[in-house]
Amino acid sequence: MSTPRHHDVVVIGGGNAGISLAARLQRDGCRDVAIVDPSLVHHYRPLLSYVAGGMATLEDLRRPQEDVVPAGCHRYVDRVVGVDPERSVVRLSGGEELGYGDLAVCPGSEVDWDAIPGSREAMDTPAASTSYLPEHAADTWTMLSGLRAGRAVFAIADRHVPCATVGLKPLFLAADHWRREGVLEGVEIELLVESDDLVPFGRADRLLREAAAEHGVRVRTGVRLETVDPVEQVLHVTTDGAAADRSAEAVPYDALYLAPPHRAPGWVAASGLATDDSAGFVAVDPGTLQHVRHPRVWGLGDAAATDALPSGGALRKQVPVVAENIAARRTGRPMRRYSGYSVAPVTTSRRRLLLAEFDRAGRAEPTVRLPDLVRPRRSLLLFDRHVEPQVYWHRLLRGKVS
Ligand SMILES: Cc1cc2nc3c(=O)[nH]c(=O)nc-3n(C[C@H](O)[C@H](O)[C@H](O)COP(=O)(O)OP(=O)(O)OC[C@H]3O[C@@H](n4cnc5c(N)ncnc54)[C@H](O)[C@@H]3O)c2cc1C
Repeated sequence: MSTPRHHDVVVIGGGNAGISLAARLQRDGCRDVAIVDPSLVHHYRPLLSYVAGGMATLEDLRRPQEDVVPAGCHRYVDRVVGVDPERSVVRLSGGEELGYGDLAVCPGSEVDWDAIPGSREAMDTPAASTSYLPEHAADTWTMLSGLRAGRAVFAIADRHVPCATVGLKPLFLAADHWRREGVLEGVEIELLVESDDLVPFGRADRLLREAAAEHGVRVRTGVRLETVDPVEQVLHVTTDGAAADRSAEAVPYDALYLAPPHRAPGWVAASGLATDDSAGFVAVDPGTLQHVRHPRVWGLGDAAATDALPSGGALRKQVPVVAENIAARRTGRPMRRYSGYSVAPVTTSRRRLLLAEFDRAGRAEPTVRLPDLVRPRRSLLLFDRHVEPQVYWHRLLRGKVS
């Protein structure tokens, strides 16, 4: 067997996590960083919610991947198919192997259509859509803005959905649109949330429920979507309770928005890097983000089992932790810890947005004390829609996170 090419740090995945980390490592003086990602296009995914709500286009959130890979970083346009942590090598789809000093595993998560039979087929009909895939985001707005009467059901899963609460953005943007068009009274809006809260932060949860009530939305939590019948346009759901006594119910729809369950890429578990449960996410110490069995392997972003709500906001804290802990491991210094910080920016209308920031225990962790960002504000919506993308392209992807 030939000797694999070797890099000081190999990063699997050039999404939000991978690009930000590679740039940060370079800023910290690491000269030999390689990124592996087959994508030719980079997406700023938070804008997908605005595409689904008719306030952005796909062009607004796409850049060529070559423009975001940090200069001087080795780029492999290829897919990782496995990792051998015993030999410290990564296997690429073309058969090539890459050796690493440290390895950052951040390939994101993928939609798990198998978790809800019928959901994938439903996406092929004009009556169902999601903002969670670029190819469906614009269709979501076509579907929602075209509805003049009937029942619109928004179903938000609680199975590893990235920044799940933002599934409420298309709901509020559509409800406000229906109000402005004078058709809101004829649209029955039903929100089915699988978790017990709309957001894992009490005060924001209350404010979102108030905003939902103002738009006449029927909110139900603890409701799990089991199957979709795309022909009859009916959802089969179960409501809270132990598996045996959950009660089943059929919910018809004229328009269905889905924030679908996600799963980790299968090769993570096949490489022996996953948690012991069936979910298959990278088994890291949720504080240090170091792999629990392989000290030179790190996990961050949507693919890592951090016991926190996965989000781009979370990466602002995770990236410096991984960058500094790679150096700390090498020098024997104490490691930094990630608190489980995450964010939920949610539009409450087409004019206002609230920003909840919290740790993994649901405690407030605001970036600024004043102003109070949990109160819905016009300025916050403008920031989230127009300023945050610029911060992403020009600061976060350039490793300017602390
Ligand atoms: C619709 C939507 C709205 C969102 N809104 C918000 C928001 O408002 N605020 C917020 O903070 N967060 C939001 N998020 C969450 C945020 O976008 C994610 O948490 C963030 O993108 C995670 O970054 P990541 O790098 O872990 O994964 P990704 O951004 O998914 O990147 C993963 C990368 O890995 C690559 N990859 C996959 N498999 C392989 C492989 N086998 N080999 C090599 N490369 C591979 C992919 O091509 C991709 O480039 C939203 C997400 C979605 C989908």
